[in-house]
Amino acid sequence: MEQTASSLPPVDGAASGVPPLPGPPADLSLCGELPVLEPRRCTGCALCVAICPAQCLAVAGGLPWLPRPLDCVACAACALMCPTQAITLRPLSAEHP
Ligand code: SF4
Ligand code: SF4
Repeated sequence: MEQTASSLPPVDGAASGVPPLPGPPADLSLCGELPVLEPRRCTGCALCVAICPAQCLAVAGGLPWLPRPLDCVACAACALMCPTQAITLRPLSAEHP
């Protein structure tokens, strides 16, 4: 039977053992939270990269990452655009120690 998005495990990189989207030390963020990727959900479509108004996302190895974290304004457009709910915004203290 085909697996649907709703039947996938919850987005929780820490619980799954999958590392979060590469991010900076907390003192390098201006907004207090950054997008975190659940790679198992990601199809590599790059819609999140295209929609980002700050142009701080890029694709490497078929997955999005955050090469310019200081430019992120935590608008959540990437998370809202993602068709598979592979991105969530998390407080830095939780996912980017
Ligand atoms: S939260 Fe907004 S600014 Fe930050 S990466 Fe996502 S789309 Fe770009
Ligand atoms: S929009 Fe979602 S599925 Fe597409 S590349 Fe970004 S995180 Fe992956």
